[in-house]
Amino acid sequence: MASQTVLVTGAAGFLGSHLCDTLLAEGHSVLGVDNFSTGNAANIEHLSSEPRFRFLEQDITKAFEPGRVDYVFNFASPASPVDYARLGIETLLVGSAGTINTLEIARKYNAGYIHASTSECYGDPEVHPQVETYWGNVNPIGPRSVYDEAKRFSEAAVMAYHRYHGVNTHLVRIFNTYGPRLQANDGRVISNFMIQALKGEPLTIYGDGSQTRSFCYVSDLIDGIVRLSRSEEHLPVNIGNPDEWTILECAKEVLAVTGSDSKIVELPLPEDDPARRRPDITRASTLLGWSPKVTLREGLERSLEYFRASVAVAR
Ligand code: UDP
Repeated sequence: MASQTVLVTGAAGFLGSHLCDTLLAEGHSVLGVDNFSTGNAANIEHLSSEPRFRFLEQDITKAFEPGRVDYVFNFASPASPVDYARLGIETLLVGSAGTINTLEIARKYNAGYIHASTSECYGDPEVHPQVETYWGNVNPIGPRSVYDEAKRFSEAAVMAYHRYHGVNTHLVRIFNTYGPRLQANDGRVISNFMIQALKGEPLTIYGDGSQTRSFCYVSDLIDGIVRLSRSEEHLPVNIGNPDEWTILECAKEVLAVTGSDSKIVELPLPEDDPARRRPDITRASTLLGWSPKVTLREGLERSLEYFRASVAVAR
């Protein structure tokens, strides 16, 4: 495809930075935007000498003018339960004002738009696996609501800009994803377990570890997102790996990959922690010809060096 100018918000984040790498490798020019609320400058440091990459430190909840762009990837938001609990109001604002501001940019420049939505739109799901037509089971006032409702508002805003203004929008519902650049201290299960295992500390299972998640390796996820961004599909599409693990099984997999003899301990289960989560990816495979390729074992092995380095830096 012809080379484009692409705006990536959340460019210093886990997914945003991987998106920048992929888009630059394809020959596009990228304007990365981040306010380092949860992003990390180290994730884009390697792009500082790349002439097709520009960076703007900007809070997207304030309107800004990026100049002409052909495409907007809206990936700015705190995303780990620990981060959005700490940054509740910021999370609500970025998922409302931030989404509207970036949709206005897409509208102004007649640009394509893809928004990073989430499996959290399904809440603690009663339908399993989760299909896109399921409306979800979300607590609107619980501790996770700052994230869940912001993301649900964003979906409504994206659909409205598509319906009322004809913007070429896309919605990806992202399921649990891991890989290099997942922040070592953001409290998510894979980062916690990998770091704990590498340090020889106990792996902290919340509850009895019977709750499930389905983990997608970052390269598979980025491939699905890029395909969706270029499709004609405007309704939400799940992108994630349907291979479902209990948290206890996940802990054992991390111990196997790291060769660690860390113990496993149980801590209290956080409020409203979803009991199970698994994407139905029929739509992604039919519409995009996409399916994940990397198993949890392979993905953890590919992430090992990154987490080892994170542990070494923290020492
Ligand atoms: N979890 C855990 N130990 C940890 C971190 C998380 O048992 O050290 C559990 C958490 O309670 C949840 C699952 O792992 O059931 C996934 O949590 P994460 O924070 O990665 O993301 P979520 O899928 O809840 O958004």
